[in-house]
Amino acid sequence: MKMRERKRCTAIILAAGQGKRMGTAVQKQYIELDGKPLIYYPLKVFQDSDLIDEIILVAGSGQVSYVQDEIVRKYHFSKVSVVTEGGKERYDSVWRGLKAMRREGAGLEEEQGYVFIHDGARPFVDEAIIKRGYESVKKHKACVAGMPSKDTVKLIDENDFAVKTPERKYVWIVQTPQIFEEALIVEAYSRLAEQECIHVTDDAMVVEEMMGTAVKLYEGSYENIKITTPEDLKIAIAFLKSR
Ligand code: C5P
Repeated sequence: MKMRERKRCTAIILAAGQGKRMGTAVQKQYIELDGKPLIYYPLKVFQDSDLIDEIILVAGSGQVSYVQDEIVRKYHFSKVSVVTEGGKERYDSVWRGLKAMRREGAGLEEEQGYVFIHDGARPFVDEAIIKRGYESVKKHKACVAGMPSKDTVKLIDENDFAVKTPERKYVWIVQTPQIFEEALIVEAYSRLAEQECIHVTDDAMVVEEMMGTAVKLYEGSYENIKITTPEDLKIAIAFLKSR
């Protein structure tokens, strides 16, 4: 069998959140930034990346056909092979994305590739981050983008008293893409799906806790912000203007 020169890279882009903290009538992934919906920007970066073969887009409930027409077809995102519906929590949406990705023959070792899980609410991912992530996952099997925290971080108790101050050189703020070997992330999420009580906020946690695999941090960027609250939009507009 002829082996590919590099492993297949699939991006799962998550856009099924409700964006309640944004407080806008329009869901945040469709808010216009410089004339284009927010979700356009990360899709464009993955579409244009030489490393990415396929994109699975996870949309909100009841939004699949809107997203197919108004985003995928309108902006010619030809690498989007599937638009699927997300779930209640982020991890539900990731699991649905992973299941949508499973291909014929995906059980064969040589068919297994890498999965880049990315928040659709992070429009400023770029090709350099994708490349650094690809080099890192080849070496470490599991890696996540992040940056050293600029602020001191305190762990607090339930009454808001500081209980611990981690040494700042060991504190990183975690971003996406979070990148994994396909078999590893699929197995981790299928184990998670069997759990009753789930406290999970990112994919690295799932791999750490379900598989005991060490997850490497690679350099993202301070511009790779997640648009969550209204002030993030002002920052995003400033970043776009500076380009
Ligand atoms: O809620 P949070 O800002 O952490 O969401 C991060 C990303 O995960 C966003 O791009 C959001 O659209 C996505 N998400 C999702 N399904 C959910 C919750 C969040 O796809 N149920």
